[in-house]
Amino acid sequence: MGLLSLGTPLDWHDANKFNEHVRENGIKQLINIFKQHSTTRVQDPFYWGEEVEYMLVDIDSKSRTARLAIDKDYILNDLNDPEKPESYEKSISNNISFHPEYGRYMIEATPLRPYHGDLLDDYVYVEENMIQRRKVSESELPKNIKPLTLTSFPRMGCDNFTSPPAKPIGPASQSLFLPDEIINRHVRFPTLTANIRKRRGCKVAINLPMYPDINTKLIDDSIPKNRDLFDSDKEPWLGASKPGHVYMDSMGFGMGSSCLQVTMQAQEINEARYLYDTLAPLTPIMLSLTAAAPIFKGFLVNQDVRWNVISGAVDDRTFIERDVEPYPGYDFFGGLDVADEDKKHMETLGGGRGVNGDRISNRYGDTKLRTTDGKPIQKITKSRYESINSYLSDYKYSKKTDVYFKDKYNDIYMPMNTKVYEQLMDSKLFDPIMAQHFAYLFIRDPLVIFSERIDQDNELENDHFENLQSTNWQTLRFKPPALYPKDTTPQELATKPGWRVEFRPMEIQLTDFENAAYSVFIALLSKAILKFKPDFYIPILQVDENMETAHKVDSVLKDKFWFKASCKWGLNNDEFIGYDLSWFDRFINRGNDELGVDDVYVNGYSSHAKDNVINGNSRDDAPCDYNESKYTVDEIINGGEDFPGMIKLIIKLVATELLPESSQHHCESLQLANTMLKLQNYLRLISYRASGKIPTIAHWIRHKALSSPLYKQDSKVSEDLAYDLIRDATRLSDLDFSDPELFTSYFGTSITNFLRSNSNST
Ligand code: ADP
Ligand code: MG
Ligand code: MG
Ligand code: MG
Ligand code: MG
Ligand code: MG
Repeated sequence: MGLLSLGTPLDWHDANKFNEHVRENGIKQLINIFKQHSTTRVQDPFYWGEEVEYMLVDIDSKSRTARLAIDKDYILNDLNDPEKPESYEKSISNNISFHPEYGRYMIEATPLRPYHGDLLDDYVYVEENMIQRRKVSESELPKNIKPLTLTSFPRMGCDNFTSPPAKPIGPASQSLFLPDEIINRHVRFPTLTANIRKRRGCKVAINLPMYPDINTKLIDDSIPKNRDLFDSDKEPWLGASKPGHVYMDSMGFGMGSSCLQVTMQAQEINEARYLYDTLAPLTPIMLSLTAAAPIFKGFLVNQDVRWNVISGAVDDRTFIERDVEPYPGYDFFGGLDVADEDKKHMETLGGGRGVNGDRISNRYGDTKLRTTDGKPIQKITKSRYESINSYLSDYKYSKKTDVYFKDKYNDIYMPMNTKVYEQLMDSKLFDPIMAQHFAYLFIRDPLVIFSERIDQDNELENDHFENLQSTNWQTLRFKPPALYPKDTTPQELATKPGWRVEFRPMEIQLTDFENAAYSVFIALLSKAILKFKPDFYIPILQVDENMETAHKVDSVLKDKFWFKASCKWGLNNDEFIGYDLSWFDRFINRGNDELGVDDVYVNGYSSHAKDNVINGNSRDDAPCDYNESKYTVDEIINGGEDFPGMIKLIIKLVATELLPESSQHHCESLQLANTMLKLQNYLRLISYRASGKIPTIAHWIRHKALSSPLYKQDSKVSEDLAYDLIRDATRLSDLDFSDPELFTSYFGTSITNFLRSNSNST
């Protein structure tokens, strides 16, 4: 998202009248995009980039408090304002782009120019760029304010979690816990918040299971009982909050968390489709491997990640679309404009269930229920923020030979905007699977419409398309190029972003080293996928089941995930033998002794971790007569006895594609050795997290909280305890080695040694 232009956003009920207009013109814009780019862009370089989201935290060691700073958002304006050269120049000269995010306490930063995926050096430049982002933003902030990469802020929604203090009495969110002052000042954001609530017909409701401990009262006692400020104040008592769960009622709990996203450019559209599909089964695996969110609203919760929180936080579906009973006195249709006769039709159904057990028949919009602008009212199984609903298919990429995709893999309920589907098919520029993808995105209503932006030139602008595209927040995003004037030369066009795939499930990590490691991992894995062309297709239903599994506490160690049976990946294991972490040692020509490769298991983790790891290896020793199997994350990442893991794919790619010609057989310079050492440690981090040698962040935080003397075995995270956690997070992200045990508990010994020797040498 670029910087936001100002304008007048329409309230939900006024915007409603333009929903169909936005969709209709958005689709015309999409068709024009396909006209302009689908056959012309065929040789784009593998550019890529990542996005890191930060929380500005006000840390006071005297009072032992850590609070979200909601009055420092001016730095974003300064860093983006050419008229403030002393700030602006710092972003530009360091190749950084700062962006606004949902929270007023948040900033997002990306490289200004993308990285070049063919250049080995760019993979180690990523971390340097990330380090500069912290430095530049810190230089604009008072000393006590730190930009931290926390996935969830532990005490968000508790008393006094902001600096300066603010009260949860805001009309945009109507939250019982979050003040509107945490929301970005730009009108787009409070409007987004309010319109989700208005469309849905009630506040969003997120219920996370509490982590049960010996003194835990399985009740969320932070819900105010007698507030009478908004009608919605009674919702928790009407069924919105669930016993034994932490209840959250506002967009900010999700969109106010931070994540790590990586965007890759494919050569051409069909390559992008294959990449999108092949990354899909990896999305839950990477969610599990980046798990970093065990605490919400001051409670330890019985899950490890943020995903379902954001999913719930922007869920604008009405009761009827979700196919659930409304709260007493609430409308099935929420904020949809529905004619009286249609509402009557609903009454004749008596709110009961018809054929198939559904209230409304749905899949192709063959329901009698319509909004006043003629849009069918459908059952919608997923929130706007969810895992992808279908694959895009590789059948064009593979030019009909060796097609991996099969129709049976798109096996889940797929509501569609049939009007959009037909429009796209009529254009002859879309095949049914591609058309269905966009027809699915376009079942949604636009959430924010600016009155100044209603009329657009569909030959030149694509805001209406982007309006819907960018408010479908899925695990992957298929990003088409933008529209450019017809007289743009091919040379000029080649400099603009092409067909891209965005990888979106990962949680943000505490340090630049980790965020660089995971970003580089995804970029290199994508490149390896395009080179070795594995078949990772499994049914979407199983990908979705894996998403649920990835939420579980320590899923990395305790659970197995559906994945393509390794004998069906189409890879020959023999080709990958030797491409494990020690390949780097041999290449750099250094003995293991200097690197301390024999890692010590981290205290309190792997000792019990080892017990937790599922016994037995699930490698396919049976004849290969089935398509899917269940694997541990360790097996998928590090490989099994007769199949390579993701890491070997990457190392082989580095060894055979990315090394300069002259270095293929020996390491020719110290600089190259350092580059390789860094890459080795990135992969080591991921390998060790996968195998349980070192903990996930979620595990590390939970363990820290549970073993703190400040913890009372009641699942609650007090301000004192949260301060300790955030202080340690700060030391980690600052690479402040004053407490070496902090680092070994988090990274293990060999990565800690690497980081220390690295920080000594610079
Ligand atoms: P969004 O929020 O819509 O995902 P951002 O602009 O925040 O978009 O992030 C996009 C990412 O894509 C950035 O890391 C940017 O460097 C990267 N990027 C920019 N141009 C390209 C390109 N041509 N190919 C791949 N990645 C790109
Ligand atoms: Mg962004
Ligand atoms: Mg964005
Ligand atoms: Mg963002
Ligand atoms: Mg976010
Ligand atoms: Mg993004």
